[in-house]
Amino acid sequence: MYVISEGGVEIRVPSMSVSGKTKDVFFNPEMELNRDLTIAVLRAYKQEGMETYLDANAATGIRGTRAALDGWKVTLVDISPEAVELCKLNLSINNLSGEVHHNDVNIELRSKRYDVVDVDPFGSPISFLDSAFRGARKLLCVTATDTAPLCGAHLQAGIRRYSSVPKKTEYHAEIGIRNLLSSMARWGARYDIGINPIFCHSTRHYYRVYVEIDRRASKANEALEELGYIHHCSSCLYREVQLGLLSFPILSCPSCGGKKVITSGPIWLGKTHDKDFISKARSHVTEEMGMGSRVERIFSRVAEELEVPTHYDQHKLCRLWGLPAPSMEIFIGQIVDAGFEISRTHYGGTTFKTNATISEIYEIAND
Ligand code: SAH
Repeated sequence: MYVISEGGVEIRVPSMSVSGKTKDVFFNPEMELNRDLTIAVLRAYKQEGMETYLDANAATGIRGTRAALDGWKVTLVDISPEAVELCKLNLSINNLSGEVHHNDVNIELRSKRYDVVDVDPFGSPISFLDSAFRGARKLLCVTATDTAPLCGAHLQAGIRRYSSVPKKTEYHAEIGIRNLLSSMARWGARYDIGINPIFCHSTRHYYRVYVEIDRRASKANEALEELGYIHHCSSCLYREVQLGLLSFPILSCPSCGGKKVITSGPIWLGKTHDKDFISKARSHVTEEMGMGSRVERIFSRVAEELEVPTHYDQHKLCRLWGLPAPSMEIFIGQIVDAGFEISRTHYGGTTFKTNATISEIYEIAND
């Protein structure tokens, strides 16, 4: 056993292999960023009167223990008996209280409800979504590490798991997040629940989404109205969005006339964050967070993102067009001077969102 300190608590973790995967109880030190972001979001949410938090895949119990330190009434659940023992130990060495249940969380959520349900499994969250929707009162936090199926890199696995068709593009991480949200909108709708994403991010090997839920059929209908398709030209990178559950693929690209137009969907085309909520969460970043500066950076980048459903990568565009890439500051200035909106994104240092079309960006870059 090792003892690690994170976010003001001490956690016993099993002896770690290099990858962070252990034989009996899973612990990944690289997820500290994910957990720090979670704690900031939970703090902002707690101010709105929320009390109960379910750590649905607790493993060492590090999430639940950190939430308990912040005053949440926590319940930690794991299907593994070794994990459950470790959760109890970790709460007790930190002098914190909480319920620890040895159970399949899908069974747990049949009979109980929690204000916040945090689904943070190893791999796909799909087998937990159904029960998470039934057992969450206000907020669902979901991690997905199966980025390849979600973003279109493993197309058939993505179709099987998420009942949609995600195609691989250069904005694949955004496709992945929006695809996950699309599944959640459809899963929630089965129970007359509408979703409202308040913060989502993609970080190297996983996606994380925070979704408010509203138990009204009208809200479920509203959420479904945010679904649609993205038509994308693989030759010139033109994109077009189309709302609605029926797809009307484009046969040739309206911009370059090429025939390589691919369609992804049904995908979430609505908002993926709430600026005001993020600014509240940001005010809860505190010193004991080991990843505090990265947390701040992600919050500020996501908050400034324009609400358009795809982004571009300036370096990839310049390579495609055989142009030297100017600095992002100069490039952004050029787009603004031409009268368009532009923002950077959290998806990468040279990524941006804009209301200019691909041919308008091309004209500006060639000016
Ligand atoms: N959330 C943890 C990591 C979780 S790893 C962290 O932040 O460190 C995934 C955990 O989910 C494992 O401990 C595994 O035993 C547990 N798990 C898998 N299937 C489950 C189920 N059906 N119900 C509850 N726990 C489950």
